Amino acid sequence: MKKSGNYSGIDCFRLIAALLIVAIHTSPLLSFNETADFILTRVIARVAVPFFFMTSGFFLISRYSCNDEKLKVFIKKTAMIYGIAIFIYIPINIYKGYFSMDNLLPNIIKDIVFDGTFYHLWYLPASIIGAAFAWYMVKHLGYKKALIVSIVLYIVGLFGDSYFGITEQINVLKQFYSLIFQVFDYTRNGIFFAPIFFVLGGMIADTNFKGSIQINGIGFSITFVLMIAEAIALHTFKVQRHDSMYIFLPVCMFFLFQLLLYWKKRRFVLIRMAALIIYIIHPMMIVIVHFLAKFLGDIIVENSLVNYFIVSLLSVVFSIIATIFINTFTASRTSIKKKWCSETERAWIELNLNNLAHNVNVLQEVMPEKSTLMAVVKTQAYGHGAFQIATCLNQIGVKAFAVATIDEGIQLRTYGICGEILILGYTNPNRAKELKKYDLMQTLIDFKYAKALNRQGIAVKAHIKIDTGMNRLGVSFDNINEVKTIFSMKYIKVCGIYTHLCCADSLLPQEVEFTKNQIDNFYYLIDKLKERGVQIPKVHIQSSYGLLNYPELVCDYVRIGIALYGVLSKTDKNTKVKLDLRPVLSLKARVVLIRSVSKQDTVGYGRSFQAKHDSVIAIVSIGYGDGFPRDLSNQKGGVLIRGQYAPIVGKVCMDQLAVDITEIEDVSVGNVATLIGFDMLDISAPNVAEHFNSISNELLCRMGSRLPITIR
Ligand SMILES: *Cc1c(COP(=O)(O)O)cnc(C)c1O
Repeated sequence: MKKSGNYSGIDCFRLIAALLIVAIHTSPLLSFNETADFILTRVIARVAVPFFFMTSGFFLISRYSCNDEKLKVFIKKTAMIYGIAIFIYIPINIYKGYFSMDNLLPNIIKDIVFDGTFYHLWYLPASIIGAAFAWYMVKHLGYKKALIVSIVLYIVGLFGDSYFGITEQINVLKQFYSLIFQVFDYTRNGIFFAPIFFVLGGMIADTNFKGSIQINGIGFSITFVLMIAEAIALHTFKVQRHDSMYIFLPVCMFFLFQLLLYWKKRRFVLIRMAALIIYIIHPMMIVIVHFLAKFLGDIIVENSLVNYFIVSLLSVVFSIIATIFINTFTASRTSIKKKWCSETERAWIELNLNNLAHNVNVLQEVMPEKSTLMAVVKTQAYGHGAFQIATCLNQIGVKAFAVATIDEGIQLRTYGICGEILILGYTNPNRAKELKKYDLMQTLIDFKYAKALNRQGIAVKAHIKIDTGMNRLGVSFDNINEVKTIFSMKYIKVCGIYTHLCCADSLLPQEVEFTKNQIDNFYYLIDKLKERGVQIPKVHIQSSYGLLNYPELVCDYVRIGIALYGVLSKTDKNTKVKLDLRPVLSLKARVVLIRSVSKQDTVGYGRSFQAKHDSVIAIVSIGYGDGFPRDLSNQKGGVLIRGQYAPIVGKVCMDQLAVDITEIEDVSVGNVATLIGFDMLDISAPNVAEHFNSISNELLCRMGSRLPITIR
């Protein structure tokens, strides 16, 4: 449960929250007991809107959102939905005489910006203002200060809402609030009410609050009961002007949201849209049910519970139909886009992100319960595109990444990637400031390096690399004193200690022995450090083959690179654990020209290919400039066209290559050539790599330069 990042709890609670909001507007229990209805609709149901704000904050606001793109998209989307909603409710507004009010223009502006043009629509402008406000506060002040500011705003809001009775007793306050209420109808809006929930959502996403399900459960139960008591007291003494804001509401929401995060099975993505549609459409359904009552009998409006169920039912049915409709409409639009988009005109990478998610799942299944998957996304995520891969991984709950360079790390942060990022290679110590700013963890490649970094006088997080036999980076495992000294360096916060295995891919007895020796060396050092009272940080040893051949090791992280992308380095599939890994990348290009050549004609540079008989040649628009190896010239490589294999003839050029299609019928210009991937037959990355004496790791990471990336 701990590992998968699926937010079933959040998804499902959206539906509950939407139905609670319908309850607020229909008062289901009013026919039976007024107090019960008050508790249901004015207290319990008040968790719904804060929940929606927190959810937006959870996915939107994160410390690392160094680019504002995410926020812009959110605002644009919400504004569009708001526009549509305003439009939908115009007829009802006309019917209610909205447009005949005094001071129409200033009032319309006020309503559009703060109060909503229809009573429930305030949520949408509040979302926009709250999100932007919280975003900029978190970005410029950090979470703590942002939280303090939003708490102050919330308190100001409280005294214009549930605690207004107190305000009225104090003259200064009364005057202050009468000013406020000239601008807004309620303090329950994007300025006083929404920011605290956005900030809380973001905080929960970014920080790992410890706290078990029990603690959160108890916290929620207590604060929930206290909130009900608070509300009843305020209600009884008639203190409330409005009933949206309670002192215990944010606290109770904090626990509730944490609890929802424990439920991680699968995502129910469609609920998101359905819940939003229910939210927007249910007042319309209330009107419709009133209208239907003329024909179906007054029971459907007079009995509040019946009324609630009918309104909910209609809203849910409408939302399901609308969701399906919108979904097929947008899906067909994207597939059209795919057909014509310029990205697939020449040569491109096609990613299957479902396979990526699948690989994450199968890898996590073989990992010990306590290990965390650290996704290695160096070199443009092995040529797959760091943005696409890291964003997708982040969305499915991967929260630890490894890169080779500091610039790759910064790049991830600007994409909005949250979680830990470890730099595996060398970084110039004079860039310590950036390490700190972007919250990157640096590998200490030897003792001298650790000292140099410490001398910068800037607190940075680091992992100590230990050399156990590879003789590349790392402090030697028997240099216990040096390692221990690093732990006491003032400006170095050691978060991890790790080693790298250099022949974990081999099952030959002598290599296995060497690897076991490496592992023993590493734990020897760890034991010695323990003996000397060093608090051991996170430890990690394995990369892809390390996990597949030594699954019994229990470490805090497993650094997975190549396996994540669904292939192994070599065609030899003989590993101790065998997994159903599925390739994420396909490499494709267009046939741009077809020509006939006569017997003895040559093709391409250096005239290295000579036709043995009259042949048909297709020119495919991809070359070594795109990363496709020149070593695959002259039949060492080939492509799939119309499900058949066509060998490469002549030398691979920088921007194109030629293939022999004499044996393939009906090839025409514009046909797709598959260089890596599946088209009736399969060309796998390890296979291609083997043809130029390399491994799929190299083959794939060559692709990161010029090729556009499309998502299947
Ligand atoms: C690249 C790298 C990895 C990932 O290796 P794969 O074999 O692709 O899983 C792990 N650890 C270190 C130190 C690396 O440099």
